[in-house]
Amino acid sequence: MLNQELVGLGKKRSTIRELFEYGNARAKAVGRENIFDFSIGNPNVPAPDAVRAALLDLLQNGDPVALHGYTSAQGAEPVRAAIAGSLNRRFGTRYTAGSLYMTVGAAAAVSICFKALCSAPEDEFIVFAPYFPEYKVFIEQGAKARCIAIPAQPADFQIDFDAFARSLSPRTRGVVVNSPSNPSGAVYSAETLTRLAAVLQEKSAEYGHAIYLISDEPYREIVYDGLEAPCPAAFYPATLMCYSYSKSLSLPGERIGYIAVPDVLEAEDLYAAVCGAGRVLGYVNAPSLFQLVAARCAEETADLSVYAENRRILYEGLTGMGYRCVKPDGAFYLFPQTLEADDRAFCERAKQYDLLVVPGADFGAPGHMRISYCVQTEQIVRALPLFQRLAEEYGVKPI
Ligand code: PLP
Repeated sequence: MLNQELVGLGKKRSTIRELFEYGNARAKAVGRENIFDFSIGNPNVPAPDAVRAALLDLLQNGDPVALHGYTSAQGAEPVRAAIAGSLNRRFGTRYTAGSLYMTVGAAAAVSICFKALCSAPEDEFIVFAPYFPEYKVFIEQGAKARCIAIPAQPADFQIDFDAFARSLSPRTRGVVVNSPSNPSGAVYSAETLTRLAAVLQEKSAEYGHAIYLISDEPYREIVYDGLEAPCPAAFYPATLMCYSYSKSLSLPGERIGYIAVPDVLEAEDLYAAVCGAGRVLGYVNAPSLFQLVAARCAEETADLSVYAENRRILYEGLTGMGYRCVKPDGAFYLFPQTLEADDRAFCERAKQYDLLVVPGADFGAPGHMRISYCVQTEQIVRALPLFQRLAEEYGVKPI
């Protein structure tokens, strides 16, 4: 007898993947240039030259057996030491090689954290809507825990602290933050993180166990207008920092990232639980070659200026047409309100113009759409008249 829960999960693709596949099929019918696919967060800028140089050097001069061989389950020690050193220089943290666990991207990193922290089915993890939809799958199906979603403040997508306070309970094991955010692009301010840390500290003391912060930060470097995303671990010590090189280095297909485990009272057991969860989930030994690339390129990024330009054109274009949208400070997504309350109906209408955008309901925030702008700038420019026609269909007047 198969696990019917998993059969159901496997048969039902996420809306994002569904749209992505639909776009590919439609592109065959009408031509790629006539499809405006804003569905998936696949970086469109190439990895930086430093990645290519590191790869070539490793392939030409590295030990061919070691390059492709097993490393320690948690990753090669020199790689973890190099990344820990880089984090400490940048964020004033005090990680060592023994704090780091190399992972298959951020998806594995957060999945491992949920699994490591959950010990009973009634354990709860809090996520702030709009949130990355896979959190719910990783928490509910992966860790067999409960996912509690709290709506954010729609005016700026910062944390609604009243709603947050009401959701905390002795069953809360962890709280997930994702700043810069997919899908809203919001970056949590120092003020938000200070307040969050104070609440978590107070409640951890009250409940007699640590409430961990799981900080999923694959968009850490993708911020605009000179902003720096405040580092959650610098505000709250009991933070499991989850990172991925998928976005900053444009390496989503190489599946490489890490967890940085904090030096808390139960640090030894916490790190062991992370290793244990990695083992249970089969996430041992992240790709060996790309561990080495990550260590050499830890402080590099792809050319992120393309996203800044795309954000400007799209944000100014859409708001000028009358779409309402919080200006994102980071990541490469815009999260405007849809022009009718039923965001799924709206996104279906957008499809008639071959505009592929994702309903906000998928992120726990109905009445919005996510537009992924890690695409060619030309695609955005050519899509704007279609967004305009869509707005006219709804009788929305330009500002
Ligand atoms: N977390 C967030 C917020 C994401 O947006 C993504 C991917 O889009 C992931 C995790 C998964 O990243 P990775 O490809 O590194 O597993």
